[in-house]
Amino acid sequence: EIDFKAGAKFAEHMKGSKASAQSEFAKTKTIKEQREFLPVYGCREDLMHVIRENQIVVVVGETGSGKTTQMTQYMHEEGYSTFGMVGCTQPRRVAAMSVAKRVSEEMGCELGKEVGYAIRFEDCTGPDTIIKYMTDGVLLRETLREPDLNMYSCIIMDEAHERSLHTDVLFGILKKVVARRRDFKLIVTSATLNAEKFSNFFGSVPVFHIPGRTFPVDILYSKTPVEDYVEAAVKQALTVHLSSGPGDILIFMTGQEEIETVTYTLEERVEQLMSEGTCPPLNVLPIYSQLPSDLQAKIFQDAEDGNRKCIVSTNIAETSLTLDGVMYVIDSGYCKLSVFNPRMGMNALQVFPCAQAAVNQRSGRAGRTGPGTCYRLYTEMAFKHEMLVSTVPEIQRTNLGNVVLLLKSLNVDNLLDFDFMDPPPQENILNSMYSLWILGALDNTGGLTKLGSKMVEFPVDPPLAQMLIKAEETGCSNEMLTVVAMLSVPSVWFRPKDREEESDAAREKFFVPESDHLTLLNVYQQWKNNGYRNDWCNKHFIQGKGLKKGREVRAQLMDIMKQQKIPLVSCGQDWDVCRRSIAAAYFHQAARLKGVGEYVNARNGMPCHLHPSSALYGLGYTPDYVVYHELIMTSKEYMQCVTAVEPHWLAEFGPMFFTLKESHSSMLKSKAKRKEDKAKMEAEMQAKRDEEAQLQEA
Ligand code: ADP
Ligand code: MG
Repeated sequence: EIDFKAGAKFAEHMKGSKASAQSEFAKTKTIKEQREFLPVYGCREDLMHVIRENQIVVVVGETGSGKTTQMTQYMHEEGYSTFGMVGCTQPRRVAAMSVAKRVSEEMGCELGKEVGYAIRFEDCTGPDTIIKYMTDGVLLRETLREPDLNMYSCIIMDEAHERSLHTDVLFGILKKVVARRRDFKLIVTSATLNAEKFSNFFGSVPVFHIPGRTFPVDILYSKTPVEDYVEAAVKQALTVHLSSGPGDILIFMTGQEEIETVTYTLEERVEQLMSEGTCPPLNVLPIYSQLPSDLQAKIFQDAEDGNRKCIVSTNIAETSLTLDGVMYVIDSGYCKLSVFNPRMGMNALQVFPCAQAAVNQRSGRAGRTGPGTCYRLYTEMAFKHEMLVSTVPEIQRTNLGNVVLLLKSLNVDNLLDFDFMDPPPQENILNSMYSLWILGALDNTGGLTKLGSKMVEFPVDPPLAQMLIKAEETGCSNEMLTVVAMLSVPSVWFRPKDREEESDAAREKFFVPESDHLTLLNVYQQWKNNGYRNDWCNKHFIQGKGLKKGREVRAQLMDIMKQQKIPLVSCGQDWDVCRRSIAAAYFHQAARLKGVGEYVNARNGMPCHLHPSSALYGLGYTPDYVVYHELIMTSKEYMQCVTAVEPHWLAEFGPMFFTLKESHSSMLKSKAKRKEDKAKMEAEMQAKRDEEAQLQEA
């Protein structure tokens, strides 16, 4: 291990400087001076030396040390970009976009030219691109086309400590690329110190530490358990704003809805206090992945008139984005994770307590430019006894449908043998294979079917891919294309806090009583009939940007349909044809009406509820059977995006689950049959594995 001391230079810099030194700094210094001020600059020569001497290097450095923005430029400046792009992966799309923008500014070029980014459905790169930021999911898909990644000279796998699903899969794939290509460099960066594991995985490669420059952070716990952390966060932020010295505030919440509530409430209270003349202005700025990018950029801008900023964020600001000038962190202690729920047999978004490592990262955000304070909205007992030491890697807690499909088409036949840093539980793999088998993507021996290999081509979840492909048969691929596109963009409904009733009424006009999917289709079609006009959107409380994005996504999916020679057929306005097509894709996510307005999952009897935002809920319509897009667990299990279906469709598309008019005994029988089917498939797959093992030995 190599460690260099560059911190002293910084200490010199900071002597006698004020708390907001960094912001001042950013305002008054040139970009070159700002770059040279970053910790990574102090050890640039040594870092480049280690990279020259080794094909793989793990780099560890505090958030803000310059890993993401500087190392790509160093690689380019050292000449690595002459025989391929310098790629840098990010687990989050917001980070990929915002960092690419920053680097294009530092290099003085237009975004999309020498420096670009690519996220799902959005490629902002060109023939001149030499530095490319992208989500890890994008690079993973690129390996399908180009297994050796010949267009890259170097890949920086950033934020490896996040252990996102795609990063974890890339670990195994890139390890092989390195072995095949001597001219290829792999750099793995991590904001935390447990880089040992990464180093070992790649065969004890060097770990390079960028010396940190952090200030002490005072950690204050709540004395008693907090009932409502949203309200508590607002109160704490106000207290800080009214009674503490300069410095920006950063609040961690779990998701968009909470962030909007905090933002709105805080703005309202500050306004009130300001009108009473007892409070200075506060700039409250939300940040979450679905926020339009021009609003996202605001968090980096200096507040006018030197107002204090209060940024309300998801865990994106934990390590992915560096915000200068934050001196106060307010931490809910919770985050939203997508987990595989074995009882439901599928993924669900759920709020969980954070891990200790994560909340420590959060509090660290307060100590970047000077000593700071972190207010934890939970007790010290909760920290010690209720939080895991570190977050369970996504690959161990999530449905692997997409990944299994991808690896299968990369000819990784036996997933249990793939080189995972932390292998997913066998149960997870088998469950994911089972759900792919249900959709018809895998055959009985676990091999990719024709349908399966078509599905891989679409960058959407397996059920949606299947829906697009099958819609040719069901006779409405044109309509399903719109539905899938609309499901792939953020919600298009605009619901400003002070005009809720008005906007809800506007939304209701678009409701198709039987279906949220078709409500989305309806909005899109009406927008189209009105010449894709933006003023039409504004008039109807619809986010024009979202629809525009939907149109782009639709065009991209249509290109793939063309390549796959799937013809575009339309059913006109025949909603029933569309609903049948939706049932064909979602039959495994069906619910049946049990009591008054009460649904239970049709496969396992678990209760699930219509979401208040659903058209069905809004109109008080409760059909006997529905299918849903996804399940969200908040206070209850909610079905998100619901469509009424006919029971005989379920029987038609999901014979492994449903038979018409089941008597109790036939239900037991079909349950036993299902169990048998699954066991049979597992046995066949096991047999295939044994066979392969024998072949390998021979
Ligand atoms: P690391 O990856 O080590 O956490 P970064 O390279 O992201 O560090 O950040 C280095 C510096 O660049 C920080 O001071 C940060 O504030 C600045 N920076 C990063 N992204 C942006 C942006 N979009 N706008 C303005 N400054 C940015
Ligand atoms: Mg970074």
